Amino acid sequence: MSEQVVEAELTWTEDGFRPGVQLAVDAAGRIVAAGELGRVPSRRLPRRALLPGFVNAHSHAFQRGLRGRGERFPRGAGSFWTWRQAMYELVAALDRQRLYELSRQAFAEMLAAGITAVGEFHYLHHEDAAARDHAFDEVVAAAARDAGIRLVLLATVYQQGDVGRPLAGAQLRFATPDAAAFWRRVDRLAARLDGPLQSLGVAAHSLRAVPPEVLAELQRQARQRGMVLHLHVEEQRREIEACVARYGRTPMELLNHHLEVDAAVTAVHCTHTAAPEMARFLAAGGNVCLCPLTEANLGDGIAGVPAMLAAGGRLCLGTDSNARIAMCEEMRWLEYVQRLAGERRGVCCDGDGRVDRALLACATRHGARALGLRAGRIAPGCWADLVAVDLDHPSLAGWDRDTLLAAFILGGRDDAVAEVFVGGRRAWPAARPAAGS
Ligand SMILES: [Zn+2]
Repeated sequence: MSEQVVEAELTWTEDGFRPGVQLAVDAAGRIVAAGELGRVPSRRLPRRALLPGFVNAHSHAFQRGLRGRGERFPRGAGSFWTWRQAMYELVAALDRQRLYELSRQAFAEMLAAGITAVGEFHYLHHEDAAARDHAFDEVVAAAARDAGIRLVLLATVYQQGDVGRPLAGAQLRFATPDAAAFWRRVDRLAARLDGPLQSLGVAAHSLRAVPPEVLAELQRQARQRGMVLHLHVEEQRREIEACVARYGRTPMELLNHHLEVDAAVTAVHCTHTAAPEMARFLAAGGNVCLCPLTEANLGDGIAGVPAMLAAGGRLCLGTDSNARIAMCEEMRWLEYVQRLAGERRGVCCDGDGRVDRALLACATRHGARALGLRAGRIAPGCWADLVAVDLDHPSLAGWDRDTLLAAFILGGRDDAVAEVFVGGRRAWPAARPAAGS
């Protein structure tokens, strides 16, 4: 791809939407200049408003295979744990081809929803569990490459079935019992990823699946390689009870004790985390990733978002189980759940009281920070990952430059996303094959 100059009718800047903004994008797909450049655009986008592409900081693509399943609850007995059983049944049934199809479908739906980068929290490693073949790692990377989405593959350590218990059944497909073997796989995978579109981070599945001393060593190795570290934290109360019983500390206490928390550490969910430990983690620079649609679907509970924000927390968003893939809806639910729980409006807002800007930050630059990406903003040095919103879409009718962002996030229909660009290339809708081909 050669250099290009992109000009849409409106472009999102730190000051809001502005007309006449040109983006110079280099051959590698990075924005090198943004503003009134006085250039002749090579790509004009009339009746479009450009936003930074959304960053999905937490996904398990294969769980797209559970869509519409596990939603019958005889005797009202549904819980996270009954959902997990359904998920394990899916895991046991997957082969390479099915995993590829599900992952590619999930990534394509993400692009259609304006998601340009995904942190794939990848713990389903083995097609042949006995041989621990790691065959699924490259399948997910291939599906992301073929879909055209930016990928941070978070290679995940999974050592035990629950606190102090061995792996069993479908969990054997997750197994990474040997740290040296895990890192050999990670380093080999690093050499096989797709250039600027793909990078690696690591994850510990949770403190259910990884003992605290293993977590600490994982971080040491990750820091040497400049990789981010993610883990699930306190999504369910049972995890807290198990950790307190075994270690005398909650998962977040263990995390704060054993890790050097900084911007490269992301805790996912924190649904039941006590405010003092949460504040300690956030003050040290850690990221929290919330997954509002999944947390609602699973009946996890409601995270203490007001306390997180009061502690200066930078929240990002993930589509997690991919029960529905809709980033605007994740943004809405982040705010609306708190309105319902707290009986007040405007929980997630910036210093000017703007909910739309605060939610956009969660869906863009905060997610990029959690994944270690130069993305999430329309600014020089960032990838040209962009969402083009249809200014003539009926669901936005009545917009002006001041109301457009809130209208899109809170009221826009899914198909108000007209086009999506990753690294300056149009990734969605996919180009139609030529006639006759
Ligand atoms: Zn998850």
